[in-house]
Amino acid sequence: SPSSSSVIIVGAGVSGLSAAKVLIENGVEDVVILEASDRIGGRIRKQDFGGVSVELGAGWIVGVGGRELNPVLDLALKSNLRTIFSDYSNARYNIYDRSGKIFPRGLVEETYKKEVESAVQKLKKLEAGGGDFSNVTEPPTTQKTPIELAIDFTLHDFEMPEVEPISTFLDYGEREFLVADERGYEHMLYKMAEDVLFTSEGKLLDSRLKFNKVVRELQHSRNGVTVMTEDGCVFQANYMILSVSIGVLQSNLIAFNPPLPRWKTEAIQKCDVIVYTKIFLKFPYKFWPCGPGQEFFLYAHERRGYYTFWQHMENAYPGSNMLVVTLTNGESKRVEAQSDKETLNEAMAALKDMFGPDIPEATDILVPRWWNNRFQRGSYSNYPMISDNQFVHDIKNPVGRLFFTGEHTSEKFSGYVHGGHLAGIETGKALLEEMEKEKERTSESENQA
Ligand code: FAD
Repeated sequence: SPSSSSVIIVGAGVSGLSAAKVLIENGVEDVVILEASDRIGGRIRKQDFGGVSVELGAGWIVGVGGRELNPVLDLALKSNLRTIFSDYSNARYNIYDRSGKIFPRGLVEETYKKEVESAVQKLKKLEAGGGDFSNVTEPPTTQKTPIELAIDFTLHDFEMPEVEPISTFLDYGEREFLVADERGYEHMLYKMAEDVLFTSEGKLLDSRLKFNKVVRELQHSRNGVTVMTEDGCVFQANYMILSVSIGVLQSNLIAFNPPLPRWKTEAIQKCDVIVYTKIFLKFPYKFWPCGPGQEFFLYAHERRGYYTFWQHMENAYPGSNMLVVTLTNGESKRVEAQSDKETLNEAMAALKDMFGPDIPEATDILVPRWWNNRFQRGSYSNYPMISDNQFVHDIKNPVGRLFFTGEHTSEKFSGYVHGGHLAGIETGKALLEEMEKEKERTSESENQA
């Protein structure tokens, strides 16, 4: 017979675990958490590589040093996570052209100012036009020079506070802390969950947390929810919290029966999915500069986003002899589809342009594939540039007994770990309220009977 509980939570990432914690702490203990993979964390994920622990997903606590304490920084402090300050401000003075020369400061300042100004203008026009892109004409990227493209890429694909007044920077501050802890960013989740879930020998071993349970079908009605997993198990509950990513919701991994209403599917389709890929390269020794202000450097190529943004790992892990290069969207998808050897060759060619032909070959490469991971289908959500209130409500509002959570349901902080965390708490509380109302309704009808 199917297992039955009060609430089924789908997904054991930061939002699913945060929701579980709220429920259990408020007395709803018969929850079941179904996780498709064999681990907690979702897009918070470490992997051993080249002798250290690297973060394939979230790497930073974004939004530090402001008037409010970022709740994720709070969690990180409570779990003694090792973090280091990342200073991007100098990255633009380390832009290499294809012959290995660093662009002069004057040209950088001028180009930077111009790119920031044009981004701000574009945003203003968009706001004035109510989000209509048709009035916003931009020169095609083919008309931009390599240095303009490199700066454009960092400003937009890295969300620099200069361009958009985003809530994360306004509320929590403009600084970013890199998580550099051998136990991984995910250790913070483990510490957060250990108050409410059973642990043994450093692992969450609670029988309510079930791994390798891929939810494929979801029936929902006025009376409850039933889910079927890929391995043929059936789970029933009064309510469900769905924390799968926006990419998974856009895919056909989960069949809804009855189908989701149109307002919900439209909101899901409206939300953009960003692919963000950190490629790790291991070398026998380091050949890049490691002085102050040199942690980040850029490669100016005529193709936008082509191995543009680099970071050395000496600050995080001294002696690791490792570099990270970040690709996004189209470049991410392109690289996911080719062999790691091809990617290694491309990255080496870029490095040889910058540092000369005599640098050592990388001995190992790690290429995460968030786009092709069927439990992710991308890295994080990107709200429409001008998102109206309707969209914000539709993306998170429940459908009957089906509650939605995840970073993409966070109105202020979508895309971030703290967005996922706060969304999980909010959804957990909303469900508690709904359960309370249901209790009142049943006791009223019992009194009448
Ligand atoms: P997830 O972590 O995706 O959790 C959802 C869970 O659902 C997953 O574990 C998944 O396996 C599971 N699941 C999916 N489908 C099913 C199914 N059918 N059945 C059962 N389970 C299912 N944020 C920052 O704040 N700072 C950063 O520096 C940063 N960098 C990032 C870099 C990358 C490469 C990526 C990918 C993300 C980054 N983010 C960053 C974003 C951050 O990681 C996410 O916003 C956050 O972790 C999302 O948490 P979540 O709980 O909403 O979703």
